[in-house]
Amino acid sequence: MSESFYQVRSYKVKHNYDVKEFLEAYKWLLQRAIDETWKNTTWKEKVTKKKRLIPIIPKSNKFKRNLRNSLLRDWSFCAHYVDSAIKQAYSILKSWRRNYLKGRRTRAKPVVKKKFVRVKETLYSYKNGKIKISIKPYGEHLVFDVQNAWFWSRAKGEMGELILTEKFLIITFRFKQRAEEPRGAIAWDCNERSIDGFNPEIGWIRVDLRRLFHIHRVYELKRRRLQSKASKKPSLRRVLEKYSNRERNRARDFIHKVTRVIAEAFRGYVHGFEDIKKEKMFNKSRTHNRNVAKSDWGTIIGLMGYKSRVRLLNPYNSTRRCSRCGMVNAPKGALYECKGCGLKIDRQLNACLNLYLQVEGLSPSPKLFAELMKRWGGFTLTGGEADAGSNEPVRGFKAHEPQRLSMDQHLPILSLEPS
Ligand SMILES: [Zn+2]
Repeated sequence: MSESFYQVRSYKVKHNYDVKEFLEAYKWLLQRAIDETWKNTTWKEKVTKKKRLIPIIPKSNKFKRNLRNSLLRDWSFCAHYVDSAIKQAYSILKSWRRNYLKGRRTRAKPVVKKKFVRVKETLYSYKNGKIKISIKPYGEHLVFDVQNAWFWSRAKGEMGELILTEKFLIITFRFKQRAEEPRGAIAWDCNERSIDGFNPEIGWIRVDLRRLFHIHRVYELKRRRLQSKASKKPSLRRVLEKYSNRERNRARDFIHKVTRVIAEAFRGYVHGFEDIKKEKMFNKSRTHNRNVAKSDWGTIIGLMGYKSRVRLLNPYNSTRRCSRCGMVNAPKGALYECKGCGLKIDRQLNACLNLYLQVEGLSPSPKLFAELMKRWGGFTLTGGEADAGSNEPVRGFKAHEPQRLSMDQHLPILSLEPS
């Protein structure tokens, strides 16, 4: 089996052009394209279980033509940016609509925040090491000499879309990659303070998420201090918003790092994660922290998907089922105890094992459980004392210790170190 897929890499080059005005104008243009389309969006009432409003985004050629003409009237740069903006506005609105229908967004109109311009392949030229982007009709253009740029030693494939920001030109390359046979699967269980993974050859891996927890905690406290005052003082609302943005950015940076570390340490593996969206259906806990953690897990899974192969798993009973005999128990605390077979095991490890079985399409059985543990150096099969109720050796809880994945940013290559 050798499927191939396209992979996109992007490289940043710093530039010295003053493109502020152009970016500002494009942001305004894009927002106007969104505004106009939004204004002409109709809402159809639909009653299924409860009443809902379904947005219908105008799509007719006539509407698009009028939109294009009206945008062109106040646009002094090249006309093709208007076409790009319309396309981008549609893709923003479509993605908003998809999320809205799934209940993940409100009815609020999308607002463009970032200043950048996407330049499609057909809208620039590349010759003799120089990228030329037209800005205004009749001649005004930007030229980027990338002949000696740093990325040539790494870049491969075809040059694709460009993204222009205030300080950088981001160049994407697209190339075909043949998918290799996976080396195996690792199943991951996401928790508020750690992600735990299992693979029979590697064993139990734990990735510390306490930094992420800490980031959210810090901002939560900062916000709480301001919130009561903010209702009286509107200027503080801006500060609150700034905090939220910073929190999101810091969390995302950290998650980028975590996923990079995992993808690099376990290159070639298929990574199984619980499908967070499905989890909502089974587990309706509503506390704030859990919601924050869930959005982090969604980001982890999303970013892992860019860096490695991800398979989504059904979370149903993954924490409650005994990974040894399959009995469903109600676990309390950090230790999972099975009333059926007497297994005592770390709760997160048990969840990982269940998810691992699911990735491989297997069902729990004592024989299989022993098999999975046998090859794992971190486990001792006979180390525990015998349980009076069964003739199986009970592994001491302390004997199960995960390997911790080091996240030291000074290490270029990440190592697995036994704790
Ligand atoms: Zn059991």
